[in-house]
Amino acid sequence: MNQKIGTKCVQAGYTPGNGEPRQIPVIQSTTFKYNTSEDMGKLFDLEASGYFYTRLQNPTNDYVAAKIAALEGGSAAMLTSSGQAANFFALFNICSCGDHIVASSSIYGGTFNLISVTMAKMGIETTFVSPDCSIDELNAAFKDNTKAVFGETIANPALTVLDIEKFAAAAHAHGVPLIVDNTFPTPINCRPIEWGADIVTHSTTKYMDGHGAAVGGAIVDSGNFDWMANAEKFPGLCTPDESYHGITYAEKFGKEGAFITKCTSQLMRDFGAVQSPQNAFILNLGLESLHVRMAKHVENGQAVAEFLQSRSEVQFVNYPGLPSDKYYETAQKYLPNGGCGVVSFELKGGRAAAESFMKKLKLCAIETHVADARSCCLNPATTTHRQMTDEQLKEAGIPAGLIRISCGLEDKEDLIADLEQAFE
Ligand SMILES: *Cc1c(COP(=O)(O)O)cnc(C)c1O
Repeated sequence: MNQKIGTKCVQAGYTPGNGEPRQIPVIQSTTFKYNTSEDMGKLFDLEASGYFYTRLQNPTNDYVAAKIAALEGGSAAMLTSSGQAANFFALFNICSCGDHIVASSSIYGGTFNLISVTMAKMGIETTFVSPDCSIDELNAAFKDNTKAVFGETIANPALTVLDIEKFAAAAHAHGVPLIVDNTFPTPINCRPIEWGADIVTHSTTKYMDGHGAAVGGAIVDSGNFDWMANAEKFPGLCTPDESYHGITYAEKFGKEGAFITKCTSQLMRDFGAVQSPQNAFILNLGLESLHVRMAKHVENGQAVAEFLQSRSEVQFVNYPGLPSDKYYETAQKYLPNGGCGVVSFELKGGRAAAESFMKKLKLCAIETHVADARSCCLNPATTTHRQMTDEQLKEAGIPAGLIRISCGLEDKEDLIADLEQAFE
């Protein structure tokens, strides 16, 4: 049955049998019992599916991952301990020492560090391209050893909108998958797989949980990328894994299952960045209302962006839902119902003006967080980016007076009144 997205938020992933718990049970157990070693051996050989140790798989996590796969329209998914782990695993599952990545330069700072510093130390090199680059500039970034293309649907914090079709076409022309971090719009507002993305990642810490309660991540495979057709590029998927009984993932699990099976049985086994079943349960409570909440976050974001744009104290406002925004057209295409509740704006008067303005806010708390039910704000120049000079900030596109506001689920009239009294 082809259900609509709200129904999937509420019901997908878990269907209880007769007399079983209506809510997803929290299977708070590290291990699982078997009658014979032979039974358990089949699981180790991936001959049978089942559970033996929560670092590899846990039923609670699998129910929630299945819901996220259904929401994104993917073939398989897995949870990770954080969004950072999700992006690392998604890339490292197909890249190793000596390989190369093409990435949008407009991405989350944590992901930028991950690939430009930590993965570089592992021998994986990245070429960054502007999300606004021409097709020719994009094609020129590829090398013989390129294994993946990476971008964010709506970048945190720059709020640039990725032209997913452009990036997917370039990736596929070079025989590699496009990985899209879809944290900000969530599958409610954009499903990158429908536009050609092959792998989708999430920091579920943000809107999916939505209550600032649990750090987590997820990886979804579209099941569309043909690894075997590009076998020479992806030996990890297309040749026997000696660390896993000589299994060739792409042969045994096909396009639909190879990526997530390898990522679980190899990377999760070895790195252990597992989400606790308790956090998966909390995440699912968030997912049950995601479709209701996202509409409200967008409504508040749009109202706050329009209000800010009307103020003389404000230099500019970034919000893809504003017709004046550079990404308005792209957003109309990929995010017809709106993007998210995050708005950024520059106050005239720089760092000092931003600092004193934020101090006066009463509803909007100063936090290193976004995408929460409670509104929050941050001035990168005095917090996350405080080691940078005003010159460096300008170069990075983060002027000293920039404030990022994450509009929560409060009534928009109250959010605007809070901003208004701070201006006065
Ligand atoms: C927060 C965030 C991450 C990192 O996620 P954590 O759950 O904090 O590890 C990755 N990508 C984007 C777009 C984010 O906003």
